[in-house]
Amino acid sequence: MKADLHCHSHFSDGKHTANFLIERALTNDVTHLALTDHDCTNVHENLQGSQPLSIIKGVEISCAWQNHELHIVGLSINPQHAQLENLLSCQQEKRRQRVREIDAKLVKIGIQGLLPYMSDLSAVAQTRSHVADFLVQRQFCTTRKKVFKQYLNKSGNAYVGALWCSLEAAVDAITSGGGIAVLAHPGRYGINRTKLSYLVDAFKEAGGHALECTYPSIAAEMQADLLKLAIGKGLYVSGGSDFHDASATWTDVGKFPPLPKNTDQFSVWRHPSWSATTPALTA
Ligand code: AMP
Ligand code: MN
Ligand code: MN
Ligand code: MN
Repeated sequence: MKADLHCHSHFSDGKHTANFLIERALTNDVTHLALTDHDCTNVHENLQGSQPLSIIKGVEISCAWQNHELHIVGLSINPQHAQLENLLSCQQEKRRQRVREIDAKLVKIGIQGLLPYMSDLSAVAQTRSHVADFLVQRQFCTTRKKVFKQYLNKSGNAYVGALWCSLEAAVDAITSGGGIAVLAHPGRYGINRTKLSYLVDAFKEAGGHALECTYPSIAAEMQADLLKLAIGKGLYVSGGSDFHDASATWTDVGKFPPLPKNTDQFSVWRHPSWSATTPALTA
């Protein structure tokens, strides 16, 4: 068994279809793949019939905690759960509104055309990644990274913050429909170890279940710290590639540092909420 519990399709800021992700997963010997788009679940409606590997219904919700923007992955979710549907449609509207505000800032500095560009995309969740692609395509920057620095990050000249839902609301929308809530890539929030420990407490208090303890480019020290935090605080352990784009050669479906074998007993697969159709980790 090999699981990748975090990746994106074109319904958010991934570049590819679900079928492409599945092919890629098979090539890389992944047996269990969670599709976890930002703030939308449309990828799941578009997957019909039997699949050559186990597909887990997932989502990645952006939320606010203190002054930070966090990502909560939901696994084994029910996309039709009303509370989750309502929260996601609200998040999608916030995303559209933010793009309109970014467009207004870009127009002020002489850059036209973002809105028609966005409406031609298949994305249901519009992200700053899409805006970055637009600015690269129009040759305002050579890379998306440079776009974030110059335009889209807090110090950028077209920065617009987003008023995401709370951490509690994100976790509750996932768990009240029977899903498993995972704190995504905890090492990427730029917070120190003491604060990370507070965050994990708040996440657990909100009803969260697991921490992502492996993802591409995680440092060995960070992985060890996260495993210690998860296990010490009675949370499960998850991990995934956060794959978006096959042209980014440093990432691939199923590719991320392995977890130590002796942490298998804390794997998120041990969580009792996995449906009967999703085999638990036994091998
Ligand atoms: P949003 O959720 O709209 O704020 O968009 C965030 C998305 O942009 C993330 O999920 C990443 O895929 C991407 N992203 C964030 N920061 C950067 C960066 N510095 N360079 C390239 N992509 C980024
Ligand atoms: Mn993304
Ligand atoms: Mn994320
Ligand atoms: Mn992600």
